[in-house]
Amino acid sequence: MANKRVYLFREGDKSQRDLLGGKGANLAEMTNIGLPVPPGFTITTEVCTEYYATGKQLPEGLYAEMEAAITDIEASEGKKLGDPTNPLLLSVRSGAKFSMPGMMDTVLNLGLNDEVAAAMVAAGADKRFIYDSYRRLIMMLSDVAFSDKNHAISKHGFEKLFYDLKAKLGVSNDLDVTGDQLEQLCMDYIKYLKDLSGIDFPQDSRVQLKEAVEAVFRSWNNDRAIIYRRREKIDDAIGTAVNVQAMVFGNMGDDCGTGVAFTRNAANGENHVFGEYLMNAQGEDVVAGVRTPMPISELEAQNPAIYAEFDKTCKILEDHYKDMQDIEFTIERNKLYILQCRSGKRTGTAAVKIAVDMVAEGRISKQEAVTRVAPDLLNQVLLPVIAPGTKYETIAKGLPAGPGAATGIAIFDAHRAAELGKGGQGQRVILVRADTSPDDLGGMLAAQGVLTERGGMTSHAALVARGFGIPTVAGCSEISVDATNRQFTTKDGRVVKEGDFISLNGTQGEVIIGQVPVEDAKMTGDFGTFMGWADEFRTMGVRTNADTPGDVAKAIALGAEGVGLCRTEHMFFEEDRRPIVVNMILDIDNAETRKAALAKLLEFQREDFRGIFAALNGLPATIRLIDPPLHEFLPNLVELTAEVATLEATGKPVGDKERILKAAESMHEINPMLGLRGCRLSIVYPEIVEMQTRAILEGAAAVIKAGGKAVPEIMIPLVGHVNELKVVKAALEATAKAVVEEQGVEIPYSFGTMIEVPRGALTADEIAVEAEFFSFGTNDLTQMTFGFSRDDSDKFLKPYVEQKILPGDPFESIDQTGVGLLMEMAIEKAKKVRPNIKLGICGEHGGEPESVKYCHKIGLNYVSCSPFRVPIARLAAAQAAIGKGAADK
Ligand code: ADP
Ligand code: MG
Ligand code: MG
Repeated sequence: MANKRVYLFREGDKSQRDLLGGKGANLAEMTNIGLPVPPGFTITTEVCTEYYATGKQLPEGLYAEMEAAITDIEASEGKKLGDPTNPLLLSVRSGAKFSMPGMMDTVLNLGLNDEVAAAMVAAGADKRFIYDSYRRLIMMLSDVAFSDKNHAISKHGFEKLFYDLKAKLGVSNDLDVTGDQLEQLCMDYIKYLKDLSGIDFPQDSRVQLKEAVEAVFRSWNNDRAIIYRRREKIDDAIGTAVNVQAMVFGNMGDDCGTGVAFTRNAANGENHVFGEYLMNAQGEDVVAGVRTPMPISELEAQNPAIYAEFDKTCKILEDHYKDMQDIEFTIERNKLYILQCRSGKRTGTAAVKIAVDMVAEGRISKQEAVTRVAPDLLNQVLLPVIAPGTKYETIAKGLPAGPGAATGIAIFDAHRAAELGKGGQGQRVILVRADTSPDDLGGMLAAQGVLTERGGMTSHAALVARGFGIPTVAGCSEISVDATNRQFTTKDGRVVKEGDFISLNGTQGEVIIGQVPVEDAKMTGDFGTFMGWADEFRTMGVRTNADTPGDVAKAIALGAEGVGLCRTEHMFFEEDRRPIVVNMILDIDNAETRKAALAKLLEFQREDFRGIFAALNGLPATIRLIDPPLHEFLPNLVELTAEVATLEATGKPVGDKERILKAAESMHEINPMLGLRGCRLSIVYPEIVEMQTRAILEGAAAVIKAGGKAVPEIMIPLVGHVNELKVVKAALEATAKAVVEEQGVEIPYSFGTMIEVPRGALTADEIAVEAEFFSFGTNDLTQMTFGFSRDDSDKFLKPYVEQKILPGDPFESIDQTGVGLLMEMAIEKAKKVRPNIKLGICGEHGGEPESVKYCHKIGLNYVSCSPFRVPIARLAAAQAAIGKGAADK
């Protein structure tokens, strides 16, 4: 026998979301706990699968099961489907496992036809109400059931007829159209459908029902549903259920109404009912915005008895589901009906507050509370936001590269941004660039926000943005930036000039014209409490990627337990050091020049490290020795060539520029990311890393001598062959021993490496002999495993993800099957030779929840991420330890 295809609401329960869909499972659950749900039944998601498997045919056995269920509803309502003297009317609604609000179809008032409508009026029903309901049925059923066969049919065409009628009558309000006029409109609708498509509007309720059920199944694969599923990562194969339910009417008069409410405030989490309703209206009027709904608080004044019942129902639902609920309700002649409930979507701030409150109320355990908040939602708790309720105009959309909101004047070059912005004149500026390079860092740091035309989620701008918490919209191909004329143009020709105010919503990727009010993130008490609970369950460490004492302090305040990646080259970019670095590079093969430059840099770096160790207060710091190719410290070759050419052509003095150009040319590499960098650089020019090692250990010694603790972990990057590590480490060990001797204090230092070259992972057992710790550099490891250039991949990764060639961007979330396999292999091999090897990750992935959960699973000791992602990583690690994801989608 085939599986049971139809479940009466009283036969199901909330655990059956796979089979009955979320809406159906909850309607069943509410029925069983005695809430006022109009009776009905659910056709399972399996029938949807059958429908598609058989070339869009409803299975034969379905009809008998539906008839039995209809008989059941008829008995409890005392009405009959299709019986003009006492008709049962039905709603037919979609409902998949995960809520897809508004993406699929609904048909209301099913069962009305010419005869039933006339008979109901004759029996005393309000004519206006009856023909308004019939009008809606004709429109909805035609739109959802027949528009597939005939594309000319659309809701819009029917709406237009109604609109024209109102214009002819000289009225604007639907309620001013009389029953007689609506009756005529129904006849016009039916004629319109016939003229347009040759289809007779079905008068038989069984035919209406069959058409509606099929239409709901077909709506599973309409364009917007497909797009929504792709965005929310919902499986296309799970299908939708169909819910058939007795109608209740909110549009029968002033003692009727309909609304949507949340049991708590979805924006800030406060414990009071929050929502909107309309008296004398049918469901879709509230969302469609034809009439302005009233806040639910008004209902208390307007109808205290109904409000009290509603409030009680909210409490029952919360007690039962132990979570904030989103509820649809209808009041028919002063009686309340609940039409839907589900876990309510909420902001990060609300999610944290609700979780903490529910523990205090004794509803859920701390452990449950920790699983209730999706880690990424914490972004919203931490970053400035556009003041809730603000209306604004979005002029372009790009990638939401750096969350948070920012407002300021558009500035088109980094120097000017630095002059005018934070640390300069203190104005609020938004830096707008075609793309950004390390050179722009000063301008970015001085800006409230950054907007770039090119670059993906892991572009330089995006990395820096997230690292420093700068709201950023990157890869915004809807604008074209003209830096020369200091302006950008949007797709539809709008021009924004230097000095014009713009705003960014980096959380959504929106570029907004003008100023918006921006509110600072508040570190509320609830947030602290919540994160404390997360730490109780977490077993994996969380460190931070930070290069300055300020960032270290920020990250520690956010709960970091050390530095997992300090990028020493960032220290070379600072204004007072850059000329020294450039001078050294210009004459790199001259040992004397090199020595002199390094002696100066040593002074700076020693102080940098002392500051970092002091800020760490005894927590460990993994410090990576110089990694990028040296020419990154020189000006951009193309720009420099142009500049020198212009100077020469205009007869102006070229000065040092010529020499710099020569050096830049001679260092130019075709594939710099695979060129002279990392440990390769340290083998060719060993003095640079020797200086760095000395600076690290002298900085550590200074802190130790001052009575503190310092735990330096010196990391050698880009090792693919153990001999690379051997050579570099041997030289640095000698330096380290010398410093310890000179300083006369014990320094608990260690040497380790990054695993970021596939060969390094493959030969991890050899490398582990030399390395006391591994840190997986998953940015490079992903780049080299796939052979995708991280800086150029946005051009093809987007179509890859859209066409499902890849499940997602591997630079965002670790590719567990490929890159992950290398990591797992490396761990296994390394542990064989060094069971206690310390293992971490320092790629951007270290702050991405799914990757963090994966790192927990494969046994890393810690993840490391930008300061602003530390709480997110802490929460993800806690959820991984608990072994449960965050709440359902
Ligand atoms: P969605 O999933 O898009 O919210 P629903 O299936 O919940 O769609 O229904 C859309 C609207 O129809 C809702 O506003 C709801 O109030 C109304 N509705 C659904 N079923 C009934 C019913 N049995 N009686 C009255 N109104 C209903
Ligand atoms: Mg709904
Ligand atoms: Mg790297």
